[in-house]
Amino acid sequence: MEKVYPYSQFPSSEPFPLEEYSKSFQDDVKLDEEPGEIDNFNERLIIFDYLGLHLPASEQQKIQKMCGIENLQNANDPEPESLNDFSEDVYITLRNPTPITAEARKCEAVKVREETLKTIDHFYYRRICGKEYGNAKLKPNPIILDDLVPGSDYLVTIKIFRPFLFQFETKNFSNKLKAGQQIQAIGGNRLSQIRDLIICSLDKKLCKEIEGRNIAKENKEEENPLVLYPSNFLFIENVFYNDLRATGSIDYSEVIREWAKEKNIKDLKTADMDGTFVKDLKPRIGYPYVYVHQGNCEHLVVFTDARLLMKDDCLCPYDYPYVMTTNRQYSRKCAICGTNNAQVVCTECDRLPNEHMLMCQECFDSYHYVDGRKIDSCKAYAFSEIIEDDNDDK
Ligand SMILES: [Zn+2]
Ligand SMILES: [Zn+2]
Repeated sequence: MEKVYPYSQFPSSEPFPLEEYSKSFQDDVKLDEEPGEIDNFNERLIIFDYLGLHLPASEQQKIQKMCGIENLQNANDPEPESLNDFSEDVYITLRNPTPITAEARKCEAVKVREETLKTIDHFYYRRICGKEYGNAKLKPNPIILDDLVPGSDYLVTIKIFRPFLFQFETKNFSNKLKAGQQIQAIGGNRLSQIRDLIICSLDKKLCKEIEGRNIAKENKEEENPLVLYPSNFLFIENVFYNDLRATGSIDYSEVIREWAKEKNIKDLKTADMDGTFVKDLKPRIGYPYVYVHQGNCEHLVVFTDARLLMKDDCLCPYDYPYVMTTNRQYSRKCAICGTNNAQVVCTECDRLPNEHMLMCQECFDSYHYVDGRKIDSCKAYAFSEIIEDDNDDK
């Protein structure tokens, strides 16, 4: 595919054989060769050495002391809470911020933050902070194992972008690129496990054509898109990893491979997503790959980091893969009234100023219907990118 999207156009590495490279790197660094025998201080000395900072031991000790995390502690700080104290999944959002214990509430800063969160305009706040990572899902795991070895096992970070409308004539579309999630995985994870963590509104609600006037009536949440259309693939380094786990799944890549044959694009292969592990991959770090599902919903997928596990990382293999961060999302408003949440996307209509326009039920009705009769040929599709109802926040 380098013919279509040349590697030189993207700041990316050469193909990165994860398993092989981590092995050679672990031999090179020898972090924690004998667990328990090297303490944090000596581990850092090894890192200093590796970086070529040959300072006298006393200087190194001084730097470590100055940069130590202990300097951030306060005698009155409450003990940190363990995630395992929560019985179910915990979502940290603006509306549902980190749970505050009675002990933590003694801190002035915590009290001020709590008061501020009550008074801010959540809708405005979410709009201006929309690009930041905000909502992290913390999932406590009932099985606690320390099977992973720091300095030997490795983890990769994968960024999943939200889909966007791509137009060939638009040269710079970077402002449309919005990361949706960051996922961390270990070599032993299957690609299908990573796929199962990807969240997209199209997997929740069908984007089907609305033929009548009543959007809500036609757009009932009866059909599960994931059951109706389970097919999807991940395209990484010229290989289509097809997800064929569900009965009725089809090979989405077939039509693309046919097209590629006509265009003389060679070396495209297919593989089973569920049978492929992260350690089998040789991704280019920084190069955009793609995840396609629900027909033509495309998410760019970028491997952003690969590194050896450290002592401070989670060492329980059952905790991987997990979603490290998700982008804060907000509901989209109707393009006409700007007040109600959008319920439908209108297209192929010469009475509209844009190719696609979002509308609410009232505006859709008043714009396209006169005396109960449709006055244009507009096509309307159910719009479901609504994560939270902003009106509740106010
Ligand atoms: Zn999608
Ligand atoms: Zn409206």
